[in-house]
Amino acid sequence: MLKISHLHKSFGDNAVLRDISLEVAQGQVVAIIGPSGSGKSTLLRCINLLEKPDSGSLQIADTEVQAATLTRQQETALRAHTGMVFQHYNLFKNKTALENITEALIVGKKIAKAQANETGLQLLDRVGLREKAHSYPAVLSGGQQQRVAIARALAVKPKVILFDEPTSALDPELVGEVLQVIRSIVDHQTTLLLVTHEMSFARDVADRIIFMADGAVVEDGTPEQVFNQPRHERTRKFLSSSR
Ligand code: ADP
Ligand code: MG
Repeated sequence: MLKISHLHKSFGDNAVLRDISLEVAQGQVVAIIGPSGSGKSTLLRCINLLEKPDSGSLQIADTEVQAATLTRQQETALRAHTGMVFQHYNLFKNKTALENITEALIVGKKIAKAQANETGLQLLDRVGLREKAHSYPAVLSGGQQQRVAIARALAVKPKVILFDEPTSALDPELVGEVLQVIRSIVDHQTTLLLVTHEMSFARDVADRIIFMADGAVVEDGTPEQVFNQPRHERTRKFLSSSR
């Protein structure tokens, strides 16, 4: 479903992603862990081309792009296969919960408003927020805003959903409701990439754990392998410091 080959990305002389290659099967749930500054967010942002990789190639479903020859059309096509959930929710503040979800359907996919609203309400049901359809983000808790953001990411039925530390900005008592919604969208069809510091959640929900350090994939395996028998000292140190 997702194939990354020899991806490189630098900011000035800071080499942030150094030759990342990765294949993820359809429906797989992959948790990406690693220290701050290791390139996790940049990797997700390169996958949906919010950042342009310097070199390498990316494929999602039937869309394959080379960084060197990337066109606007390819960018749009690749991005249409992805949904992204950010640490700070990034909802449109001047739109209601429902409007946040239907925006991409009405403007992007040219779906009639009535039908988009129906889809939007169903998605709000899925994240347990139907009664907040007409509320603006400002009156929602962080956990509720993030659940709306997840519904928004689901709206366009992406092949791959990218979560960048979706619970890091939340008060501790609101983390559980968001993790529960993430767990509920695992359907073994949609591919999920989840950058997280929630180790027990990662262990529990992911099929695969990737540990990144200094812009490279250091360890890649099942939760049992990575958490119980890490092969690299670097992984061991990280795990013992994050418990
Ligand atoms: P992580 O998500 O693992 O904490 P990031 O991908 O955010 O790591 O950042 C990796 C490195 O890239 C850091 O050194 C960060 O300062 C740098 N970086 C990220 N985004 C930018 C940017 N837009 N401009 C310059 N440097 C950046
Ligand atoms: Mg980050």
